[in-house]
Amino acid sequence: MNCREVAELLLEYVGGELAPDAHTRLELHLEKCPPCAHFTASYRLTVTLTRRLPRAELSPEAAARLRAALEAAQRGV
Ligand SMILES: [Zn+2]
Repeated sequence: MNCREVAELLLEYVGGELAPDAHTRLELHLEKCPPCAHFTASYRLTVTLTRRLPRAELSPEAAARLRAALEAAQRGV
C-alpha cells in the first residue's frame, strides 16, 4: 500500500469500516511511514472530537489542515 491509498482509505480506517486485509496493510504502512502515521493520528483526533460534538462541523482551519496533510501524503513527503 502506498501513501495515496492510505489517504483514500483513511476515513474508513478511522471509522473501523475497513476490510480486515486492507486494515492490516494500512497499519503495516503506518509503521514504516511516519508522515502517514502522524496524519492518521491527527485525522483520528479530529474525527473523535467531531463525533463528540453532536452538530459540530469541521472548522475551516481543521479542514485546511487536513487538506494540506492529505496533499503532502499524496506527494509522498
Ligand atoms: Zn505513507
